[in-house]
Amino acid sequence: MSTLTPMMQQYIEIKSKYKDCILFFRLGDFYEMFFEDAEIASAELEITLTGRDCGLEERAPMCGVPYHAAETYIAKLLSKGYKVAICEQTEDPALAKGIVKREVIRVITPGTLTESSMLDEKKNNFLMSIFKEGYCFGIAVVDLSTGEFVTTKITRGNTTSKLLDEIAKYSPSEIIANSALLEDNEQVKSIRNRFETYISHFGDSYFELENARNRLISKFEKSEHGVQQLFAGRSDSKSLLSEEHLWQSASGALLEYLEQTQKTSLDHIQKLELYEIEEYMVLDVSTRRNLELTETMRDKSRKGTLLWVLDRTNTSMGARMLKKWIEQPLVNIDDINERLAAVEEFKNRFMVRMEIKELLKGVYDIERLTSKIVIGSANCRDLIALKNSLGKLPYIKEILKNCTASLNNKNYNQIDTLEDIYQLIENSIVDDPPVAVKEGGIIKTGFNEEVDKLRKASTEGKDWILQLESTEREKTGIKNLKVGYNRVFGYYIEVTKSYYSQVPSSYIRKQTLSNCERYITQELKEIEDTILGAESKVIELEYSLFLEIKAKIASEVSRIKNTARAIAEIDVLCSLAEVADRESYIMPSVDSGGIIEIKGGRHPVVEKMLEEGTFVPNDTLLDMEENRILIITGPNMAGKSTYMRQVALIVLMAQLGSFVPAEYAKIGVVDRIFTRVGASDDLASGQSTFMVEMTEVANILANATSRSLLVLDEIGRGTSTFDGLSIAWAVIEYISDKEIMGARTLFATHYHELTELEGEIEGVKNYCISVKEKGEDIIFLRKIIRGGADSSYGIQVARLAGLPQVVLDRAKEVLKELEDTDISKKQTRSRRGRAPIEGQIDIFHMNSQTKSKDTIIEEIKKVDISKITPLDALNFIYRLQEKIKKGL
Ligand code: ATP
Repeated sequence: MSTLTPMMQQYIEIKSKYKDCILFFRLGDFYEMFFEDAEIASAELEITLTGRDCGLEERAPMCGVPYHAAETYIAKLLSKGYKVAICEQTEDPALAKGIVKREVIRVITPGTLTESSMLDEKKNNFLMSIFKEGYCFGIAVVDLSTGEFVTTKITRGNTTSKLLDEIAKYSPSEIIANSALLEDNEQVKSIRNRFETYISHFGDSYFELENARNRLISKFEKSEHGVQQLFAGRSDSKSLLSEEHLWQSASGALLEYLEQTQKTSLDHIQKLELYEIEEYMVLDVSTRRNLELTETMRDKSRKGTLLWVLDRTNTSMGARMLKKWIEQPLVNIDDINERLAAVEEFKNRFMVRMEIKELLKGVYDIERLTSKIVIGSANCRDLIALKNSLGKLPYIKEILKNCTASLNNKNYNQIDTLEDIYQLIENSIVDDPPVAVKEGGIIKTGFNEEVDKLRKASTEGKDWILQLESTEREKTGIKNLKVGYNRVFGYYIEVTKSYYSQVPSSYIRKQTLSNCERYITQELKEIEDTILGAESKVIELEYSLFLEIKAKIASEVSRIKNTARAIAEIDVLCSLAEVADRESYIMPSVDSGGIIEIKGGRHPVVEKMLEEGTFVPNDTLLDMEENRILIITGPNMAGKSTYMRQVALIVLMAQLGSFVPAEYAKIGVVDRIFTRVGASDDLASGQSTFMVEMTEVANILANATSRSLLVLDEIGRGTSTFDGLSIAWAVIEYISDKEIMGARTLFATHYHELTELEGEIEGVKNYCISVKEKGEDIIFLRKIIRGGADSSYGIQVARLAGLPQVVLDRAKEVLKELEDTDISKKQTRSRRGRAPIEGQIDIFHMNSQTKSKDTIIEEIKKVDISKITPLDALNFIYRLQEKIKKGL
């Protein structure tokens, strides 16, 4: 009976503990994969599938990758949703008795990457843990490469949609969750459909409160931001039963997952920050996408987004923080104004800003470098990058000294110039070290006596050998005697055939080649031992000194991280100031009132895409009273969407602490921005265009509050005209109702019938984007003015787009026919221009609650019957019947 070879037995044993991973099994210079892993990996990585004798009758399928190129292959597997377990030889094969010991030293998953080569330096890489209990959730999020760790809970309202909003905020590359979430197919489906993330189950026991709390306690009890602070006011027995356990379960399980997969120090995760969802402006997935905050809708690129406009940061830490600010604007007015004041100071102090900018250019990613040092993956070049960055700190601090804005002051105080760490690296590591840390040549002379001594011994030995050639030639008379070195025989003296007779007896023959012989002498052997001994000793010593230096730096992680945060924030504030200055943005006034008043507002991205000076600025007035809902009409291509997005972006920019593209802006803080823009299919989730639209509208109506800002573009376009119009109409009525919502709203539409709502519904105002007709053409003026538009000019725009003339001519004929027969068009045309034709019943105002019965009777008496159209008459009777039914 055949049995597995010992190595295969070892493989099977290790693999059985990492069933959900592809196991990279180290064999010499390769990582090998076997059996099913080999079949998957060879297909996914497009590498050859071979086989290996495993002791069984059939060979084991096998494939492999060279260890030095493994990162690329690992990245590819991760991007396809696999986890990779790295199994290394954990003892020296030369010393091993029997099979070499092997262990998994790390499991790499999409959410736990720390390798700079696999990460985008301007983006965080988040791992999220979700604990579901009933309809409530605990959420914890970590970026292992930077050490950020935050947590929150969701307990009220539409918790599922809030969960999706939080996922959208972080776009985690990986999610772990308890089985309550994984078993909810609908929820998992909606996460999978919306986000490019990998979601997997993690043992329920790790989410259990007791275990999770213990994990948190053991992690943070020694931390400066201690566990007491974490559980402050939450550690009583009552809180164990209250909602606080939600975040504790999620974050405790997340820590456990990190420990199980990373098997290394997590000291760079210094604190757990607890936040409430309401502390930030809420933006749902489609709003983020529609407003193109950090990636464009079309191709997910950075160019053409708000981030692209605002990012003039000089460090990757700053770039990541700016992205975060854009993704989570604030709602606390004091915090917003604190940021704005700091931006203002940097904007006004040009020289300060320029000097900081120059210095920041020399600051590397202190955050990620420190994490690498703690995790253990940093090399000497990382230490030099850290040193060079730290070298800029005293100068940055000096420049900030005279700043007066409170946030700039806070950052000034927060910066620790870390001279001790700078000096440590400066004194110990050579300025241009090699990448390898185990081959010597990394420690500076003068740092360690022993290193210096050993190096001296080796150099002196080498000098002696250099001399040897000439002294031996002289002594022996062998003119072409040579001293050489190779790895196998070490140092030797080489003599060619013709001189064999002159070889002294003290020479010991080591090797005979075809036309020469190689010898050693006693003395040469001794010197060689000294040189080689010193060299291997110094290499070992240098490596252990390197580890000591790293440990020393790691022990100061908290000081370094605090400073890194301050540097990132200074970078962001300077970036916002720079943009404000270059793009002529102004400081918005942000308050708790309900008014959003913008004069000369511009779209930050569109204006940059257009030729300079061609963007037409526009004003906006929204409040919580008379100007709650602005109905915006205007031809296709007039600029409605641009205008509405510009208002939303200006509000968002103000709340993240940025200056805004306008001449004046007063922003009454909004709690959420909702957008419903354009049509898109979500075929993957089985939703048609109209279904997606309606789902989004339903979400808005369910979640918007009186403090929200709604941007609704063409609601109801995905269905028949009458259905669409009715839905749009009813939605406006619903939103405008102060008792239900009363949210500030921008509503663009091609249903001109909706302009009838001004005067009908309190708070509704009509606006349109003006155009000028010039023969068959239209000229877009891009200016928003009061009143409703009278046409969509769809056919003219189609002409501009290059539709064949024959199609355009026919379209015009059809339009005419339709207008002559379409009831809704007739209604519109008869009522267009708002003021009722003299002598005609203003049918829509019949509906007004404000008109008394007597007034209506008086108006009826005055009606000129000859001017009533049959349709008006029908409508009139219908409305009258309605009123009678309601007893009015
Ligand atoms: P449709 O009804 O067809 O969706 P729209 O009215 O929403 O059209 P937008 O998409 O907002 O039109 O604008 C069309 C184009 O007009 C923009 O891509 C932009 O180039 C230009 N534009 C919009 N607003 C302005 C402006 N204020 N100044 C200059 N150009 C503008």
